[in-house]
Amino acid sequence: MFSNSIIFATYYIISCVNSYKLKNSKPDFNRIAIKVGSNVITQSDGSLNDGRILRLVEDIAILYKQGIEVVLISSGAVAAGRSEVVPSKKTNIVAAKQIWAAIGQVKLMSSYQFLFGKYGIQAGQLLATKESFRDRRHYLNMKNCISAMLENRVLPIVNENDTISINELMFTDNDELSGLISSMMDCKSLIILTNVDGVYNGIPGKKGTELITRIDKESEDLDKYISSVKSGFGRGGMITKCTIARKIASQGVDVFIANGTRDSIITDIVRRKDVPYTQFIASSKRETGVKKWLSHSDTFAKGAVIINTGAKDALLDEKATSLLMIGITRIDGFFRNGDIVRIVDEEGNNIGLGKSQYDSKKAEQNIGEKLSKPFIHYDYMVINERNKSIYQE
Ligand code: GLU
Repeated sequence: MFSNSIIFATYYIISCVNSYKLKNSKPDFNRIAIKVGSNVITQSDGSLNDGRILRLVEDIAILYKQGIEVVLISSGAVAAGRSEVVPSKKTNIVAAKQIWAAIGQVKLMSSYQFLFGKYGIQAGQLLATKESFRDRRHYLNMKNCISAMLENRVLPIVNENDTISINELMFTDNDELSGLISSMMDCKSLIILTNVDGVYNGIPGKKGTELITRIDKESEDLDKYISSVKSGFGRGGMITKCTIARKIASQGVDVFIANGTRDSIITDIVRRKDVPYTQFIASSKRETGVKKWLSHSDTFAKGAVIINTGAKDALLDEKATSLLMIGITRIDGFFRNGDIVRIVDEEGNNIGLGKSQYDSKKAEQNIGEKLSKPFIHYDYMVINERNKSIYQE
């Protein structure tokens, strides 16, 4: 009886401390990723809005001088090129976008280099494609390059390499790219700048519509509130912003969606001033490098395995569990040992993914068998966080 009370009291104290920590944890701004949308830095004809870029550069320069490491992810290349050239009728839209990006990226970087130069800051360019994230070695090359730039006080400016991107192999948009970069670079905060103040619970400007200031793991799905209308020249919209923001926050990054057309919005957020934005609260979880890389590898999955309820229960449990052959009921697709494979439950829900330790043929032969070598080892597996929290409610 006595020992039960002690256990209960200890448990109570720990949970109070944890919830205090969660409520009062301050975002960490030592290394920030900042994403700037096309709609923030281009004018209605697509040309670059140099005045706005200057305001953003001034704001970032203040942080830079304080020793804060900033990785900038900037859109605007395609829009900036569009205002320069009208492609001939026989040029298809994919090629037209590539031409615009080829012209616009140079204009974009020239503006940034010139303006950052005024503040004594050297800015450098890094162009990525979705493929750059497929191979872990390539991924680490990219990470090493940005780390070296930061160590040498060179401000990295990242964009998709739109000149060689084609629709099927593109990032959904630069919001996705900014999520990948912030997670890869272990940034503790990501600020996504767009042309509205954040996420609203209805149509902005309509009576009763309010800005949602805080979104955490327990918050309900936002899709019903958000309009799928895209604004201006960018590819993204609020739905992808929210999906990415939730995913990245679940990996321990505080994500802010804010209005980049407001002066000094970045420094205001960092100084915790009372300015409008939506914050996606970072989970306290810290993933390993491999798991972070894996969690963005969904599009590279080669096949899927269907698992039974016992295996699903075990994987969704808080404890670290590997996926064993005994829990698998079906194999879909062809994959090699080491390929990324999706984990799906009997109802077709995506449970997670991981690096398989069997090829599809060997896995097929061993379905339901009691083998000691796991199909996916826990260290090489990520579980869909949203699925997990719904399951535990
Ligand atoms: N990478 C594209 C550009 O620089 C923008 C993609 C997006 O809209 O997110 O124009």
